[in-house]
Amino acid sequence: MHAKLDRIRGGVYGLLVGDALGVPYEFSPPASIPERHLIDMSPPSSFARAHSGVPEGTWSDDGAQALTLLKSLVECESLDLRRFTDGLLDWYRNGSMTPDGRVFDIGNQTMQALRIYALHGNPLTCSPFDDWNNGNGSLMRTLPCAFISPSTATNIIDRARRQSLPTHAHLRSQLACALYSLMAWQMVEGKGPVDALDYAQDTLEEALNPAEKTELGIILDGRLDPSMGSGYVVDSLWSAIRCVLATDNYEDCVREAIALGNDTDTTACIAGGLAGIFYGEQAIPERWRQALKGRAIVEELLEQLAVPADFPSGAK
Ligand SMILES: [Mg+2]
Repeated sequence: MHAKLDRIRGGVYGLLVGDALGVPYEFSPPASIPERHLIDMSPPSSFARAHSGVPEGTWSDDGAQALTLLKSLVECESLDLRRFTDGLLDWYRNGSMTPDGRVFDIGNQTMQALRIYALHGNPLTCSPFDDWNNGNGSLMRTLPCAFISPSTATNIIDRARRQSLPTHAHLRSQLACALYSLMAWQMVEGKGPVDALDYAQDTLEEALNPAEKTELGIILDGRLDPSMGSGYVVDSLWSAIRCVLATDNYEDCVREAIALGNDTDTTACIAGGLAGIFYGEQAIPERWRQALKGRAIVEELLEQLAVPADFPSGAK
């Protein structure tokens, strides 16, 4: 398989497997998370798991919204915001892009925004946008912005910021999505995580006006804070990136993310997307890929993904 396609598939499955792996541990404090080697799709029987009725290997809101975004971007590479938000609403109401039609996990801010959207139908005005409305709910789904051609820094930044608007319109959330998506894009192009992160920071800073740069500064200052694995977009971003930087394989990376406790599925989703790109699809443990429910939904979307520009025709 072509290397770039393998990295994209690795990114999609990396985020979905990370999400599904983290679901049973969501909301747990770090002290109650099992030892690293025991973190698996099914936790030890002594562990009080979250979402007890959810079958092993089921992705949650993170995966469903990322697939909704991927579908929207396949249909329109510059992102039709109304169709995308309709897709989010279809997930919330009807369970689209879920393995079994069930919605068992939704962030408060996203729920609030989608309820307002359902009433008024405007994706540009339905999101809360105060300083405290900076959950990680748009960061967790932004990865597909890095997978769509034409890929330029301007396109990636634009897509990532726009996909955040319907639920997380605050500038901080938009810029966190842009930073992460730029980093992911450069990793798809073959850079390692350190170089990709450097590129993302420099490129985003250059693209911003002074007021936006101030907000980016708040995000970059988060590098100095300890990883909490929380739902705050700045902490969530750096918690996940640090898991990628601190490990040398997919399995250890997502277990590291879950070991932080709290918003385990989302930290593992954000970290797992990058690790999946870097190490490729085959580096995601076979048992976890096999355990993942809903693979047909993923494959159908990946089939529709335009091949990267340097993909040799006819090859697979
Ligand atoms: Mg979730």
